[in-house]
Amino acid sequence: MEDLGAAMSGNRDVLMLGGGNPGHIPEVQQLLRTRMQRIANDPAEFAGVVGNYDSPQGDNRFIAALAQLLRRDYGWDIGPENIALTAGSQAGFFYLFNMFAGEYPDGRSRQIMFPMTPEYIGYADVGLADNMFTGHRPEIELLDDHLFKYHVDFSRLRVTDNIGALCVSRPTNPTGNVLSDGEIRHLQEIADAKNIPLIIDNAYGLPFPQIIFTEASLAWSDRTILCLSLSKFGLPAARTGIIIASADVIRMITSMNAVFNLALGSLGPSLVLDLVMSGEITRISTSCIKPYYEHKAGKAIALLRQELQGLEFRIHKPEGAIFLWLWLPGCPVSADEIYRRLKQRGVLVIAGHHFFPGLADDWRHKHECIRITYSMPEDVVDRGIRIIADEIKRVYAEKKPSP
Ligand code: PLP
Repeated sequence: MEDLGAAMSGNRDVLMLGGGNPGHIPEVQQLLRTRMQRIANDPAEFAGVVGNYDSPQGDNRFIAALAQLLRRDYGWDIGPENIALTAGSQAGFFYLFNMFAGEYPDGRSRQIMFPMTPEYIGYADVGLADNMFTGHRPEIELLDDHLFKYHVDFSRLRVTDNIGALCVSRPTNPTGNVLSDGEIRHLQEIADAKNIPLIIDNAYGLPFPQIIFTEASLAWSDRTILCLSLSKFGLPAARTGIIIASADVIRMITSMNAVFNLALGSLGPSLVLDLVMSGEITRISTSCIKPYYEHKAGKAIALLRQELQGLEFRIHKPEGAIFLWLWLPGCPVSADEIYRRLKQRGVLVIAGHHFFPGLADDWRHKHECIRITYSMPEDVVDRGIRIIADEIKRVYAEKKPSP
């Protein structure tokens, strides 16, 4: 992770295909720049944005506008009491996981369950107690054209009384999988039966930034905790996470914000306020952000397929998010070794085994996958993928048994 931090903060010699930075989409950048200039040119608004503490629940105008958008577009019975902001959704996961799992004064302990791993690497270290996570292997469906897809293996899912919440990312980082509406409904039923929340990490999903290339709808009830973020819309530096949940959960989040942050930053909400009020944020996501990434995903996959011709490889069906998940079944070296060799050649990717929080068994599949980010400029992705493919071919060539 240190590699990624250094490369993301500007080591220009590295081809950074390992991080989670969104692309700098010209239309989105232009919109944000215009809005920022308007704020800077209006003394009263500028003073409000930079000169006042916001409430610990987050910018009231933004929260009211978002509640209205969700009521109007999705018909949800939702108000400002159901929304709180956090300093990035990563901070939100720290709150939520430690609220619903950990050690309790009566000696009991509870865990967060990831019904399907691979899952987001950022969940792994946020527990204040040991052993706070449990994860499950997926079912694997093999598809044509070197593709495959994970599904939740409901036959193995046992939600016992020590599970405090279920959590899924949808679209999933690292795989680009999008759980079907049916899978989400089934998980919600399981959670409801146990009286625990289903946490859905929607950082790439609907209604914004909508980096989702397959049919999927968005549902919410007050037993769902839906997490959104402005990061992949194009504002990772503004650190704005959004939690949509029952009023009780929102009160607890607000209290934690008060302790950890006193107040939240106003910049992110102020930059997109107009877009949320007008609903433009959804339109830009549909007409600009989604096709931008879908096009990049298509190009990256085509290049990988071309460069890896003749080898046994599979790519997770790209249904959303900003990553390709490459599986090398039977690869003669571990994904970690491939990561090290690529680093030597100036390309950063992430080895697959990091993405299995709570899955203790030493499943070989964990060590046969790598995550490749395709959100970077086209020439960086192109050069990076060619080097990745070349290194993989070298690995297979070196390990070929001699005749
Ligand atoms: N959830 C997922 C699935 C992510 O990929 C990321 C960041 O890459 C986050 C949450 C954290 O996002 P934020 O920038 O809002 O903290």
